[in-house]
Amino acid sequence: MNFRSLPKVDLHRHLDGSVRVSTLRDLAVSGGFRLPTRDLRKLKAYCQVGPDCRSLGDFLEKFFFFYEFLKSPEAVERIACEICEDAAKDNVVYLEARFAPALQARAGFTMKQVVEAAIRGIQRGRKKFGIDARIILCCYRSESPASSIETVELAKRYRRSGVVGVDLAGDESRYPAEPHYRAFDLARKYRIPVTVHAGEAGGAENVREAVERLGAVRIGHGIRSLEDGAVLDLLRSRRIPLEICPTSNVQTCLAKTLELHPLKDLANTGIGVTVNSDDPGVSGITLSHEYEAAVRRCGLTCAQMAAAARRAVDAAFCDDPARRRLREKIERAWKGI
Ligand SMILES: [Zn+2]
Repeated sequence: MNFRSLPKVDLHRHLDGSVRVSTLRDLAVSGGFRLPTRDLRKLKAYCQVGPDCRSLGDFLEKFFFFYEFLKSPEAVERIACEICEDAAKDNVVYLEARFAPALQARAGFTMKQVVEAAIRGIQRGRKKFGIDARIILCCYRSESPASSIETVELAKRYRRSGVVGVDLAGDESRYPAEPHYRAFDLARKYRIPVTVHAGEAGGAENVREAVERLGAVRIGHGIRSLEDGAVLDLLRSRRIPLEICPTSNVQTCLAKTLELHPLKDLANTGIGVTVNSDDPGVSGITLSHEYEAAVRRCGLTCAQMAAAARRAVDAAFCDDPARRRLREKIERAWKGI
């Protein structure tokens, strides 16, 4: 099956993890940063995960290398436009791009300005490449509770400009969610849809907390839900789908290989699963690659993959008219699969 030719939905893709190596080189040069090399092939080794990646720490190290290059309005606008271009090239017809404003802000470039720059880039990308792209703002576990509250306030403020949800991201194994409870209480008050990275570096109990305490209606990764039958029941009964990103899970050593990834087991429990890209730039993949990996290596049937594609439409944070248009597109192309 040629997944590249089929229209697809990506619910879990990070803006900072999607930057092209050539763009990182341009941004470093224009920002006056020193690079170890300007040779794109050599530079790739600094920005993309290789076979030597052994942990979430190794994975995140790639981000440390280039993060400073991203902290300007020009950089944010450009990468937001390019994420649309790259997704559209891969026949992604609907994309929710996420980022943490607190991480990309610096002195003289506020969180509000980060969000505004991203909105400009996404709007330009939508128009130019014909993709329906939206924004999810991430609160970050290692950042302050105040920055999470500000993130939720920004999501409310820019709702009409394409911000459709909030997320809690960051290293679950080191930083608890509890300091950020108030921010998510606020999200619930404002009726902003919530997704949470949980059950990735942390256990199934984090998935329960994400649902019961943070109000998550989708879970980022969540593959460790398999460790607790009661958590699986909770996800099933509330119809909460998982945003699975197979290659990313292998690169952060959550699964040893794609063949050993629990995607098929999760799909077989009757929980809604969706397949997403996470950090296509850092991982060196596309969403089509992930769909293909899900079938050829993780063992999903084509019918299960089609169900995942449809589930992603149901789980998208867009409004209902946009969802109807999207459903038509996906149904027409995936019919009979
Ligand atoms: Zn993620």
